[in-house]
Amino acid sequence: MMMEASSDRWMKCISTQGNIRGVAIQATELIQLMAERHQLKGQMIQGLGEAVIGSLLVASYCKAGQRVNLNIQGSGLFKQALVDAHPDGTVRGYILERDESQVAKNFQDGEAELGPWGEGYLSVLRTKDGEEGAKPYIGTVPLLTGYLAKDLSFYWVQSEQIPSAVGLAVNLDGNRVTSAGGFLVQALPGASAAEVRALEHHISEIQSLARNIAENSSPIHLLSQVFQSTAFVVVEEKALRFQCNCSWERVKRALVLVGVPELEIILEEDKTAIVKCDFCSTDYKMGEDDLRALIQQLKAASSA
Ligand SMILES: [Zn+2]
Repeated sequence: MMMEASSDRWMKCISTQGNIRGVAIQATELIQLMAERHQLKGQMIQGLGEAVIGSLLVASYCKAGQRVNLNIQGSGLFKQALVDAHPDGTVRGYILERDESQVAKNFQDGEAELGPWGEGYLSVLRTKDGEEGAKPYIGTVPLLTGYLAKDLSFYWVQSEQIPSAVGLAVNLDGNRVTSAGGFLVQALPGASAAEVRALEHHISEIQSLARNIAENSSPIHLLSQVFQSTAFVVVEEKALRFQCNCSWERVKRALVLVGVPELEIILEEDKTAIVKCDFCSTDYKMGEDDLRALIQQLKAASSA
């Protein structure tokens, strides 16, 4: 059977003058897949989807081998999202819902002026994979609006001093993702005030990004909408996919950190140790015999 290739991808472009760059993302199937893995519903799908698309926008301008970790913590309906994205187009992540009783009443009534994240902060960590000692770059900004697209624009301006505009949208039919995408446009050194104004005007004319991508979610369509009369060339297109790097080896390392006394309690009470990977919702189960063997091994190592 032939597998239909996913059309999820990012497309990067630069104006022919070389002073405005942009990236547009289509991620419908990716967000659907991640929502299913984490068994998310409604707004939570949109919350994770926007965070995933947002982190891919950041990753698209990272160097090969780097890793982006987007961490958002809010006081609203969404409590936290953690997303890892790579410049090769792979991504993983999860979102945590705030306990309903802890959500401020104005959020529940939909009266809040802030977006679904409420107040909090957003941080972007950039590290080079495999270089534990390398100094990571970290930029943190407070959430000003509670809407990820706006706060991510603010991040670029504040933390990286690049005038930027971000759009993010996830459309749903029940709990099914019908379209998901976003864009990032940036003025590079040399862009004139008039060029930046023209771009801002085009973006403001995209009245509803959600409606726009529902009609046509292809990245080239979105870039044309944003750039309009500004000529641009496509410089890169990359397929996007979900990928988690968890493994039995990592799970074992995590269990070693739990320590012998705790492991003995787990063995006594539950007979199996279950370690869930938050990023992909995979359950790793270690049965009684393996657990006993691990404890023996740790005891032997500590007495050696
Ligand atoms: Zn995993």
